[in-house]
Amino acid sequence: MHSFNSDYLIPNLIDAGSQNLRFFEDKGSNIFHGQILSYTFCDFIMGKIKEYELDTKNQSTRPVNSMHKNALLVGELGISDHIKTLVNLILLKTIHSLFPRYMGTSFCSFHSYIVRYSANMDTDLGFHIDDSLVTINLCLNDGFVGSDLIFKGIRCPIHVDTPSNDYERINIKHRKGFTVLHDGKNRHYVNPIEKGERYNLIIWCQDNNKNAEWRKASDNYECMDLCDYPRRLG
Ligand SMILES: [Zn+2]
Repeated sequence: MHSFNSDYLIPNLIDAGSQNLRFFEDKGSNIFHGQILSYTFCDFIMGKIKEYELDTKNQSTRPVNSMHKNALLVGELGISDHIKTLVNLILLKTIHSLFPRYMGTSFCSFHSYIVRYSANMDTDLGFHIDDSLVTINLCLNDGFVGSDLIFKGIRCPIHVDTPSNDYERINIKHRKGFTVLHDGKNRHYVNPIEKGERYNLIIWCQDNNKNAEWRKASDNYECMDLCDYPRRLG
């Protein structure tokens, strides 16, 4: 358990296998919401973030991607090893159990960062898909209002701007310690934050082979198996 304490997990977590599925609520459209990580883990990461924010030499950080002005890479916080251990120990097996589609996928990289929403930082996030197969999204704190995460259904590259069905519009209210696991190609956005600040750990689980399939479908203007557009609206 290098760089990872057992009290970072909730007490009843038995192992990293299918038993843990009972901790997640199936929200539909391959979106799962539940708690397997403890407040202790959230507070540990929040401590690292607050240390970083108080250090004046970190005041003028560069944006880590085009969508967030105020995101922080986990490498900047010195917690890369913790995240790596967390992924290998718990999250990968959880993903393989929750997403049978990705059972055989080893994932070749994990892009991890912290998003910060408040009146002074990013206030919301526009409609987009992630550069990931599966996204892990852990809420690190409480005391905020608004900034719900809204999903609008899984699409391939050519159907990414198509309308959604009612049942694809799924609203997640973030709660401290709770993780959202979702298909990276489930289109989503974040409502404006109304009060307080919200910090979340985001991990994009990526795979080169699946990325290549995505680009090929895009180049050839072909729909993909993962897409929920034609078979649900057709
Ligand atoms: Zn499609």
